Amino acid sequence: MIDKHSRKISYLRISVTDMCNLRCVYCMPPGGTELSRKEEILSFEEILKIIKHGVSLGINKIRITGGEPLVRKGITSLVRHITGIKGIDDIAMTTNGVFLKEFATELKSSGLSRLNISLDTMREDRFHDITRGGKIQEVFEGVEEVLKAGFKRTKMNAVVMRGTNDDEIQDFVRYILERDIELRFIELMASGWKNMADEERFMPTSEIMEKVKEVGDLVPVKQRVGGGPATIYRIKGGLGSIGFISAVSKAFCSTCNRLRLTSDGRLRSCLLSGGEVDVKDILRSSDLNEKELAEALTEAFIKVTTMKPTVHSGKNNAVMNQIGG
Ligand code: SAM
Ligand code: SF4
Repeated sequence: MIDKHSRKISYLRISVTDMCNLRCVYCMPPGGTELSRKEEILSFEEILKIIKHGVSLGINKIRITGGEPLVRKGITSLVRHITGIKGIDDIAMTTNGVFLKEFATELKSSGLSRLNISLDTMREDRFHDITRGGKIQEVFEGVEEVLKAGFKRTKMNAVVMRGTNDDEIQDFVRYILERDIELRFIELMASGWKNMADEERFMPTSEIMEKVKEVGDLVPVKQRVGGGPATIYRIKGGLGSIGFISAVSKAFCSTCNRLRLTSDGRLRSCLLSGGEVDVKDILRSSDLNEKELAEALTEAFIKVTTMKPTVHSGKNNAVMNQIGG
């Protein structure tokens, strides 16, 4: 699938649930969000059907996200099934890390290629505040379990918020100097939930970078083709690397190769703007035979691909736990 701006679409991000065990301040309101009814959430069988169809159209890379993917029952079995699909070269997962101590080994043996762990602070009390109740020790133990299980190219995502955790940028850098982890500093985006990510807390990559440079000189790392939206550096002598994702100050839309599938079955062209097609409706429509179903799914993928904006407006606020960040 090539979109109208010559971007080759090969990556599908799948939100497997809108539920989460945490309530991060920039992502969810304190009482959580109204959740989809169980029957509205795509079954594993439906997700696998959509992936297989995507593969026939050029998808070769999958990311599982949410909500929190590890709260979805049977998630490792979904991973195992996706790994078994011919044509999928890479399957990664984004998680808040709380359940990794329990799941890391099983995820590895299920064939998961890589993990992104979200962690915005190194401090116990702050983690409790940012996530509204989380226990940081569980994430640290999860990270060590991931490294022990033999995962490579593990990423740690930290959303930087002025006045909340910007004084920890250097602590993060020091943490990965001794660990084979790619730390990625992410700019705060406006959230679909009002006042959760206010403008005063936004900090641009340029400013984050200045703070990182106080720990050591940044040496650029040559990136793989299609290696993702971050620009990557190393600090001499350090084991890990550091990436910067400037989704707000410098949109990376020109190299965007992804579509998104929401937990309730909408195929979307972009996190922030563009359009979507309800593929759950297509899958559940009883009057389509197999050939008609395949044609309708192809049409949906092509339609969503053509809906991809040249550059996102940045104005729409993403409802992260539903679309999948
Ligand atoms: N629960 C999992 C997690 O936290 O990793 C997966 C879903 S979460 C929505 C995916 C990513 O979106 C996380 O790294 C989170 O920090 C990021 N995210 C959520 N809201 C955000 C916002 N307003 N600005 C920037 N990143 C955000
Ligand atoms: Fe949950 Fe991830 Fe959103 Fe935090 S960022 S509330 S962990 S979905």
